[in-house]
Amino acid sequence: MGGIFDGASSRRLLASLRDIMAGSGTGQERLDKIVSLIAAEMKADVCSCYVMRAGEVLELFSTEGLNKTAVHNTRLRVGEGIVGYIASHARPVALDNAPSHPSFAYRPETGEDPFLSLAGVPILRGSKVRGVLVIQHKDRRGYVEEEVETLQTIAMVVAELVAQSELVSPSEVSTTGDPVLLPARLSGTAMSAGLAMGLAVIHRPQLTIRQMVAEDAEAELERFNAALITMHSAIDDLLEAATLAGLGEPRDILETYRMFAEDRGWLSRIREAIRVGLTAEAAVQQVQNDTRARMSHLTDPYIRERLLDLEDLTNRLMQHLAGKTSGADGATQPDDMILVARSMGPAELLDYDRSRLRGLLLEEGTPSSHVCIVARALNIPVVQAADALNRIEPLDQLIIDGDHGQVFIRPAEDIQMAFSEAVALQHRKEQMYAEIRNQPSVTRDGVPISIQLNCGLLIDLPHLKASGAEGIGLYRTEIPFMVRSSYPDVQAQTELYARIIDEAGDKPVIFRTLDVGGDKMLPYMSGGAEENPALGWRAVRIGLDHPSLLRQQLRALLLAAAGRPLSVMFPMIAEVAEFDGARRLLDLELKRLAAQGVEAPSRLRVGTMIEVPSLLWQLPALLPKLDFLSVGSNDLTQYLFAADRGNPRTSTRYDSLSPPMLCVLRRLVDECAKHRVSLSLCGEMAGRPLDAMALIGVGFRTLSMSPPSVGPVKTMLRSLDVAALRGYMSGLYLGGDHSLRDKLKSFGKDHGVIF
Ligand code: PEP
Ligand code: MG
Repeated sequence: MGGIFDGASSRRLLASLRDIMAGSGTGQERLDKIVSLIAAEMKADVCSCYVMRAGEVLELFSTEGLNKTAVHNTRLRVGEGIVGYIASHARPVALDNAPSHPSFAYRPETGEDPFLSLAGVPILRGSKVRGVLVIQHKDRRGYVEEEVETLQTIAMVVAELVAQSELVSPSEVSTTGDPVLLPARLSGTAMSAGLAMGLAVIHRPQLTIRQMVAEDAEAELERFNAALITMHSAIDDLLEAATLAGLGEPRDILETYRMFAEDRGWLSRIREAIRVGLTAEAAVQQVQNDTRARMSHLTDPYIRERLLDLEDLTNRLMQHLAGKTSGADGATQPDDMILVARSMGPAELLDYDRSRLRGLLLEEGTPSSHVCIVARALNIPVVQAADALNRIEPLDQLIIDGDHGQVFIRPAEDIQMAFSEAVALQHRKEQMYAEIRNQPSVTRDGVPISIQLNCGLLIDLPHLKASGAEGIGLYRTEIPFMVRSSYPDVQAQTELYARIIDEAGDKPVIFRTLDVGGDKMLPYMSGGAEENPALGWRAVRIGLDHPSLLRQQLRALLLAAAGRPLSVMFPMIAEVAEFDGARRLLDLELKRLAAQGVEAPSRLRVGTMIEVPSLLWQLPALLPKLDFLSVGSNDLTQYLFAADRGNPRTSTRYDSLSPPMLCVLRRLVDECAKHRVSLSLCGEMAGRPLDAMALIGVGFRTLSMSPPSVGPVKTMLRSLDVAALRGYMSGLYLGGDHSLRDKLKSFGKDHGVIF
């Protein structure tokens, strides 16, 4: 049974460790000394070190307490036994009854059966697991945090021994099991659309920590404080630059990030580790390892994204401690670069030279992670794929297919050719779209079609001018809410909406009120899990149940517009009574502001989305109350066919270009015309050229789409003869087809429509 292991024990152990590292001996000799030292100081019956060898095998390299004959003979696969478990999960484990752990594997040659307790940590370097360090005790005992943290610190030192090729040859360390030069393909998740080709730049800002144990804790604290100050001012510079560049939400993200940098808990844990005797670098790294270990099993996407932000910050702090200002070294960046990272924060992405950055490949992250939001706004294709760092070497040729979530590593020449052609075609098309930007949006037979944009970030706004769109047909106000860490107050909302109106200039903007819930949960909003979130408490339902929430948003919109035109749209309205309820709240806010002498909007237009089919049977009662109606075809399709839009098994099962959907749409066109209500469609359909053609054939004259769709849709409509299409479609509505896609495509081809 060991005595109490505390901060003083940890300091003593680390001081001896420093002596071992400063002394002479081969890598193996030093490792043996380290292992004996740990066993003695931690009063452990066993201390063993396993090192990762080629083919993902963990070999026992040194032990105190197990049979010495097992050294270099006992081997475990990653995932095998508790040691393999620690390696595969890359996180520490502390067990008071190791044999009861599901991964326990008994290896008789080591003679380890009498040991009940085990604490082990991964030996990590960069993002890779290089081995595992474990201690074992015969008795059943718990481990204190200091013990695990001290093991983690020592593991960092051992990682350096491995990396400096003192234990295994460098070629073996870098071997991944695959012959390095063979082409490979990774299937992952598409996170930001587009194709990119370039050379791999491994984003590995974690620097080698040369010294783990400090001579003088006070001096280290000073060094840490100085680095913190320079980092803060560098973040302030970035914020400033983001403001100047009109980056909008990325700026908000950076601000959240700045908050992290001032987080007391984080800073005090680092300072404590320095007081225990670590160098500033080792302390920052240890706190990060510990945070990662404690948070890595959490699946909550919000927490995981915060973890990524913290990693970003840690890396940045390490750069400052090393006297560098950013992880992106301009001189070594190729002209066409694809960044490869385990994870990355938004600020780190902005460190790289935008003019050379072609794509991003992440091992971790979700489409809603901040770095992806920023990448999409910058039009950088992103794919997430596990194991990327193990398979890619710096400057490997890479192709990122952000449309299909594919990555081609060192692609063969024919694949490179095919992609170069696809990339070139993409560029040619973009040029063509730019050329028609200022041409009228009118069909071949003279029917004007209004193209509007779907936006959700300030960074999207420059597209309004660049694409030639006539206005914003859908501003998804929930996106700024989703990237924040708390609910923005009225003032913050007012400022944001005012900037949107300012930047849109004389082009109209339709603000959709908060459409959260379902797949768009706000991290700071309680609500609890729902069995059927798409049919659950979402959008205007939340606003009507929590009127103060909706009123605050409406107030902010009215304040932002003061004296200028404003259009407000409510999402997910299922019945007229809901529209009336929402409208009442708007009227209350109008009254309240009038009483305060705030100028009303010069023109207030109020509308709703039609996404829930029940509303189709209340159109005569609804339409007289509306200024406009916009079809949310994404949700309307989902509810019409009872097919979850987020489930890959059902989302493509039914086609939006089917008789039932087109009948519904045609009815909406007719009813809105009768009541003189403007009608538009703002679901994904509007941005797909073939679907947009059908919509125009049905009678839609306003389509709202994401910015990249404007060029393709405008090209299509300028080549379209609407009269011919209407005639052709009149025979299609009542048929029994599953889909009209092929028929419509044939029509387009026969009539020279450019898709
Ligand atoms: C829709 O449902 O079609 C729509 C535009 O809204 P969202 O995709 O934001 O749900
Ligand atoms: Mg919707």
